[in-house]
Amino acid sequence: MEDIWVFIEQDDGELEGSSLEVLSKARELGEKYGYMVSGVLFGSDVKKLVEEAGRYGADRIIYVDDENLRIYNAEVYAKAMVELARRYNPNTILFSATRNGRDLAGRVAIPFNSGLLAHVISLDFDEEGRLTGRVPGFGGSIAAIVKCIDSRPQLATVTPGVFEAKTFDRECKYVEEKLEVDLTPDKYLVISREKSPVKDISKSEKVVVAGQGTGGELDIVYELAKLLNADVGVTRPLADRGLAPRDIQIGSTGVNLKSKLVIVLGASGAPHFVSGIKDCDLVISINKDADAPIKEHSDYFVVADIFKVVPKLLELLRGGGDA
Ligand SMILES: Cc1cc2nc3c(=O)[nH]c(=O)nc-3n(C[C@H](O)[C@H](O)[C@H](O)COP(=O)(O)OP(=O)(O)OC[C@H]3O[C@@H](n4cnc5c(N)ncnc54)[C@H](O)[C@@H]3O)c2cc1C
Repeated sequence: MEDIWVFIEQDDGELEGSSLEVLSKARELGEKYGYMVSGVLFGSDVKKLVEEAGRYGADRIIYVDDENLRIYNAEVYAKAMVELARRYNPNTILFSATRNGRDLAGRVAIPFNSGLLAHVISLDFDEEGRLTGRVPGFGGSIAAIVKCIDSRPQLATVTPGVFEAKTFDRECKYVEEKLEVDLTPDKYLVISREKSPVKDISKSEKVVVAGQGTGGELDIVYELAKLLNADVGVTRPLADRGLAPRDIQIGSTGVNLKSKLVIVLGASGAPHFVSGIKDCDLVISINKDADAPIKEHSDYFVVADIFKVVPKLLELLRGGGDA
């Protein structure tokens, strides 16, 4: 039977939620095409995590428990995944498109000379069993349907937040594997790590997003957010320019919001950005271009110059003026 693998990412003993989203999607595909679904988990002392992951739709969880796998290390994880894949010959391997997932997927694709669909926002198989996905491309101006052709395993990284993590009431087998390859890192060692001090905004209820139309002048954006009790996000060009941390970039290569309210200031509405706000309840955009594509993705679209509107809004919210 063909087997779909999902790399279940853990970080120092905590499961990465977006890999469980991918596992749940794999379950759906497994049901549709009669494929077996396996989660693959690496770590140290992972028994509890393995059982937790098993609730998200896998037929089995294949895991390797080794101190060298406690924290993600590109070289060591790639060695482990390649050896396991050679042993089992899965048809397909899916990764969440987290930083580590993207890194690992590329390293696994090379030795197998495999096709890798990067950052898909939908996933399916065609009538010949080829992995097929929708990928925003060419700067986000198109969304292309791409498929892997003949190589196996066929690989994809999946944009976090596009699928829902679901638990299933079904039996899951747990298979511990021992590897032959030496997992001692010989290229680099992680000595210590620090968590990012930046707040995770993926679960924020209210977010004010700054686009290039703000000219990178974020003071008014932060003040508006503060008065609304909201967090701040940015489009990618602002993060690329170093004006805001990458952790608060919204979109297909950043955070996917599921907020109740998003206010988008001066963003054009490129598909790569829009995929990060499509699950929000209420989207209000302000843009001086009446034809900006963000209009189609907004519940309320205000045609105005943000440098005229936002100062008036601030005045109102501060409780002063009659703006
Ligand atoms: C592989 C890949 C992945 C990507 N991933 C992401 C991603 O995750 N997130 C992301 O955001 N982008 C991403 N991008 C980039 C994306 O395609 C767009 O280039 C980007 O979203 C544009 O940002 P923007 O809307 O801020 O800027 P622009 O497209 O330059 O839009 C600026 C907007 O501001 C308006 N404006 C200007 N001045 C004012 C004013 N004074 N008042 C009101 N409105 C004003 C303009 O009318 C315009 O609509 C990615 C691109 C690639 C190739």
